[in-house]
Amino acid sequence: MNSQKVGILGGGQLGRMMVEAASRLNLSVTILDAPVDAPAKQIESTQNHIQGAFNDAAKITELASQVDVLTVEIEHVNADVLAQIEQEGRVRVCPSAFTVKTIQDKYNQKKYLESHGIPVAEYREIKDADAVKQVAKEFGYPLMLKSKTMAYDGKGNYVVKSEADVEKAVAALSKTPLYAEKWAPFVKELAVMVVRRANGEIRSYPVVETIHKNSICHLVIAPAQIDGSVAVKAQKIAENAIKSFPGAGIFGVEMFVMADGEILLNEIAPRPHNSGHYTIEACETSQYENHMRAILDLPLGSTAMKVPASIMVNILGENSDMEACYKPCQAALLAEGATIHLYGKKESRAGRKMGHITLVGESMMQVQKNLKPILDEIEPGVE
Ligand code: ATP
Ligand code: MG
Ligand code: MG
Repeated sequence: MNSQKVGILGGGQLGRMMVEAASRLNLSVTILDAPVDAPAKQIESTQNHIQGAFNDAAKITELASQVDVLTVEIEHVNADVLAQIEQEGRVRVCPSAFTVKTIQDKYNQKKYLESHGIPVAEYREIKDADAVKQVAKEFGYPLMLKSKTMAYDGKGNYVVKSEADVEKAVAALSKTPLYAEKWAPFVKELAVMVVRRANGEIRSYPVVETIHKNSICHLVIAPAQIDGSVAVKAQKIAENAIKSFPGAGIFGVEMFVMADGEILLNEIAPRPHNSGHYTIEACETSQYENHMRAILDLPLGSTAMKVPASIMVNILGENSDMEACYKPCQAALLAEGATIHLYGKKESRAGRKMGHITLVGESMMQVQKNLKPILDEIEPGVE
């Protein structure tokens, strides 16, 4: 389809699903990641993948020397090296190094979004425990203490419930610089995937609802079962947020909806996103294929759903026992409209994303009914 070679920084499940989409288009993809058997490397045998860290300058330069376009499946990469490569001009970097660098620091990301008129929860930079106590006078408790950098799956967040938690919270997050966010008493969490081509064309996917358990995404309900006017507002905010950043590619936009319908943007991911896995089975073009199309400057595909309803459930490791991951998959083998995605991770750990299952159907009720036996294996006894 395209002679340009793609290099991906990171070889986890998002990289793996990018490779799946790329392979259907005869595109060649080279992966940079430390494990020899990283999930994305396992399924692309035509390339000599690079063994190394995605923040190692020399390794990124090595990858760049072999490809025409560089992209990321994780934002915690060495963005300064990406900026250099971008400046040299031979290799295109998607999304742009500036975008990755701005987004990878959640405090800078918030400042940037705020300066572009995007609604976000109030936030303050935090230097020490005293600063948290000062901010609490303004924000009240609970408040959310957050790591500026290297955050994922809620690691890097600490709910400060009262002044008694402050020292503990600051100590727990001491490895990274911090900021505090005012508590957002949301009624729902929403997400929208937005894709942009280099020529500026933007398309967004339907608004979905995300349900988190212990700060890790558990379920994604597509389309979100919300008032149409709230959905329109969420989609507009997501599109405006992405328009404010340069560069081509797919972006995940996480949002909170308040009781009065107000929407706050939580954060952006400059890459495919867990809330967009459902697009593989439920949309005309998946987030992964549209990412590939966007970074290669090919026409974007339709982002519309091709089924009335879909729910995605994550399969998280419970402990080192892989069997726990297979139980919901066995139930999914018997469920109508279910597709199993296992990521090929060799070790299971508590809370680690090991796979996901997407169900599609003619109605949300039907999908919920078919999901029930799968959920029973994931959370026995929970109704
Ligand atoms: P991800 O894995 O999505 O990158 P992350 O580690 O960067 O997550 P956040 O998205 O900042 O973390 O927060 C994780 C979850 O914590 C949110 O989805 C939401 O449920 C909750 N949360 C975050 N910020 C707030 C807030 N200000 N008020 C209330 N809840 C919050
Ligand atoms: Mg995050
Ligand atoms: Mg998040």
